[in-house]
Amino acid sequence: MKTKIKETKTKVKMTKQLKLLTRLYRFFSPSGQEAQVIDYITGLFRDNGIEYRIDRQGNLYAANHVPGAARILLNAHMDTVAHQPAKLAYARLKKSGDLIIRSSNKTVIGGDDKNGVWVVLNMLMDKSINTPLSALLCVREEAGLVGSQYAVEHHADWMADALFCMTIDRRGNDEIITHNCDIQLSSDDMIDWLSNHGSTFGLHTSPNGSISDVSNIAEHLHINGVNLCAGYYNAHMGTEYTNYNHLKSTLRYAKELAKDIHAHLTANPQRVVYVPEPAWKPSVASTYGTAYGGAFSFGGVAGKPLKSTALTSDEVIDMFWEVLDDIELLEGDWSPGGGASHHEFSAADLRLSKSRKSLKVMGMTEAGADILYQYLGTDVLDIVKGKTRGVSIPVDTIVHYREQGLDAYEAYERTKGAHRETGIDDYKSMLDDDGKDYQY
Ligand SMILES: [Zn+2]
Repeated sequence: MKTKIKETKTKVKMTKQLKLLTRLYRFFSPSGQEAQVIDYITGLFRDNGIEYRIDRQGNLYAANHVPGAARILLNAHMDTVAHQPAKLAYARLKKSGDLIIRSSNKTVIGGDDKNGVWVVLNMLMDKSINTPLSALLCVREEAGLVGSQYAVEHHADWMADALFCMTIDRRGNDEIITHNCDIQLSSDDMIDWLSNHGSTFGLHTSPNGSISDVSNIAEHLHINGVNLCAGYYNAHMGTEYTNYNHLKSTLRYAKELAKDIHAHLTANPQRVVYVPEPAWKPSVASTYGTAYGGAFSFGGVAGKPLKSTALTSDEVIDMFWEVLDDIELLEGDWSPGGGASHHEFSAADLRLSKSRKSLKVMGMTEAGADILYQYLGTDVLDIVKGKTRGVSIPVDTIVHYREQGLDAYEAYERTKGAHRETGIDDYKSMLDDDGKDYQY
């Protein structure tokens, strides 16, 4: 999947759907600054006769035109880790002709997770869908699942009729994530069903998820959930791009899945309730690292750690972001917008060295380099390429830090309630537009 993009410049035909996507990208909406995009989406809801509610954090709750108390819940997040607005550029892949959308100013475009929002909006507005759909569009996912935590703690009743949660917030085009790093999102039975279902569409189930709002939803609503691929690549980096053809495939698949899983669960109501289990199972051999309860296991045969060179590029990059998250928790600057430290890397290009033993991080700021020196120590080596500032970090160092850092993360988990109550009150102005809006 990690190939160098060979592309040609292209003129694009602006279809209604593509317009909607670029519209969403153009809203600069780092965590805590989602007001504009919320305003736009609620306008779209009103224009399309879609019932919705908004809570005081800015989370949106909506339902499509199909009545019924047994619904499929769609979920995505409206915030991004962008630190400045992106200038959008379009290109086509030479081989496949797929349409690529990226920035021309080395900035996150926000495919993570505007792509998910786009899928949810398209499904809600699609009058040809006969499945009862609900949606939860969250704020501040990138700041530590803050929006969804508020939603499940305060408004679980608004989602109580959900049979299943489909979050659309995974990179790439072929995965149905069934385990996040904290919990198993679906029961073993349901995973078998999903694996069969996905395979006929060229998708496969994967336990290698990191973290997303679906964890909060499955955990609090006691339903099965997944995180579907959303056609974005290089998330959180200035090289982020969307393969629009992949995103459209996800939309097609999401419609099929919603319909089929609704039929399956209404016919098998005993399968609806699921109390998520920890993602980590000591007896199960896996090829990736999962965190649970302070234990960290690099799969393979239990007790025999996997060599760090066996990790894929995406896995190492995920861990790098987790390390940064951890540093932000220690620094107390984890919000908004994915935290201050993330900003130092938002224009960076991350890739594994040829030997797979180190991660090269090119094009971050001086402050970003300083953070790495401070927390990862002398293992971090300077790379200077012309004017570009970079470092090389041994993968082992990242893995090691990731293990040690969990303690700090758990301490944060115990105290996060205090953080989460400090909500935003800016959304009150939007509450009066529609009689159906929730009033505080
Ligand atoms: Zn995301």
